[in-house]
Amino acid sequence: MGYKMKKISILLSVLLLISCANENEIEELTIYTSRQPQLLEPIIEDFYDDTGIKVNLLSGNAQELMERIYIEGNDSMADIFMTVDAGVLWQAAERDIFSKVDSEILERNIPSYLKDPENKWFGLSKRARTIVFSSDQFASDDFSTYEDLADPKWKGKLCLRTSKKVYNRSLIASMIDEYGLDQAKEVVSGWISNLATEVFSNDTNALKAVSSGQCGMTIVNTYYLARLLDDPQYDNLNLFWANQNDRGVHVNISGAGIVKTSKNKENAISLLEYLSSDRAQNFYASANKEYPVLIGAKVHESIQEWGDFNEDNINVSKLGSLQKQAVLLAQEVGYK
Ligand code: FE
Repeated sequence: MGYKMKKISILLSVLLLISCANENEIEELTIYTSRQPQLLEPIIEDFYDDTGIKVNLLSGNAQELMERIYIEGNDSMADIFMTVDAGVLWQAAERDIFSKVDSEILERNIPSYLKDPENKWFGLSKRARTIVFSSDQFASDDFSTYEDLADPKWKGKLCLRTSKKVYNRSLIASMIDEYGLDQAKEVVSGWISNLATEVFSNDTNALKAVSSGQCGMTIVNTYYLARLLDDPQYDNLNLFWANQNDRGVHVNISGAGIVKTSKNKENAISLLEYLSSDRAQNFYASANKEYPVLIGAKVHESIQEWGDFNEDNINVSKLGSLQKQAVLLAQEVGYK
């Protein structure tokens, strides 16, 4: 080997050593998520400071990300899939993209009804879906349950978001679970008879229609109300905790699971454990004005006045397994 060649070959092996060393030193995780990056950024910075593990976010639409993980298979960069709604997480588990996780910390921090019974995914925040009414037209005393909104006395008063949104499919699924298909169908059919107007494409528009007097009440996730109430224009919107004397308010989750093909499962589990910890729970749920899964963690100041509420503790995986029935039910009663 000539002098020049030798020099190049030494240089190459030095470079190779450096790059190997780097790969060992910098530990990274990648989350595929439909959540807003700003909800996660402070937590992953904190996690990095604690552990030296860098977390990358790949943001996008939940269905597309799920599809992508499935197609990428073994080559996927995804260590964690994180999204909202138990129905979506359940679907991801059905597509077999998650691996089971055994963790005492997750077991301890997350109530069992807020996670997959097989430990493939876990709730990280709670999202309550309840009744909001206009105080120009009604008072709290007028309301009791979701089912009561099917009573003919509310004719021309109810506004609803479309049943195409998974949130409403999950709500219907919870009613199917509670008292069977026929009775659930009767309730939803009653809602449709009481509609003031066409269904809305999102919760915020339904709320605005209540505020403007187009309708008297609607059913929404509470964080949408919290956002609108930042504007005094919507002061006539009032929250009512539904079904407090029976099964409780319908609760869904945002959550995550470890991707089956992840090469960093131990670190990924550490990150989920961290997300369920006191430190992260005090921030993560309140940042979007949702509710923490960890008992005792903080809720956002602006929603503290709504107080505590009894929640339906149906296992959220049923919101997934009954989803198809919920879709069919909505179709049958003409809930668009
Ligand atoms: Fe939402």
